[in-house]
Amino acid sequence: MRTAQVLRRGAAERLTRIDAILESAYETSEGELGNKEDPLDEAIYIILSFQTDLRRFSSTWSSLRAAYPTWDAVERAPVRKIASVLREGGLHRQKARTIKQFLLAVRRFAGGLSLDALRGMNDADAEQILTRLPGLSWKGARCVLLYSLQRNAFPVDGNTFRVLKRSGILAAHAVYRRRTSHDAIQAVVPPTRRRSLHVNLVVHGQRTCLPRYPRCAECGLFSTCPRVGLPRMRMREPMASRQEEIGRLV
Ligand code: SF4
Repeated sequence: MRTAQVLRRGAAERLTRIDAILESAYETSEGELGNKEDPLDEAIYIILSFQTDLRRFSSTWSSLRAAYPTWDAVERAPVRKIASVLREGGLHRQKARTIKQFLLAVRRFAGGLSLDALRGMNDADAEQILTRLPGLSWKGARCVLLYSLQRNAFPVDGNTFRVLKRSGILAAHAVYRRRTSHDAIQAVVPPTRRRSLHVNLVVHGQRTCLPRYPRCAECGLFSTCPRVGLPRMRMREPMASRQEEIGRLV
């Protein structure tokens, strides 16, 4: 799929309106997401976030740092011991293996357990290195660029992708696991708005545009949102399901 086909006609104008509404609603409350200033910390935080919600991966991050205060200690620890620390976050064995492989690759690349060498690189080179490390996709690499290296990258996580598809920015057939999708979305967001819009979309996806039962009646985008791909029954959710979904990251 070509980049242009990922976006629907009028995507840029629609996105400008969505950005203004979400900024008014959330005011870029990025402290809630817990991202890290150090690029190695941020990369491992993102690995822990895979297929779990913010509360659980924040908790497993704290557990990991308490059990192993340095990355050297994690590097020396057996996978099974790291996995036991990560159990609460799910996929704990897989994440423990990935973190060990990731640290090994970082040491080979940098000669030590640090990603500070990225600070002197341009965005494209830094992103290429990050995406070659085990466990980081384009989204993970762009989180490191955005939060730790202070670059104008636009990470597209599951929340962002879902909100942009339902609200008519993305074509209905756009696929998350294609780089063209990530590049097309990043290209349409003005560089100076990338950080704020990313944070607001993540928060919106966690609080309102929930994966299974979006809270459309309470949504600030309701009057303009075409709710692409959403069965009518999904707009009215049972309370129990709604509570289960709040905070979920996909
Ligand atoms: S109106 Fe519904 S589908 Fe559209 S962004 Fe809001 S919660 Fe999501």
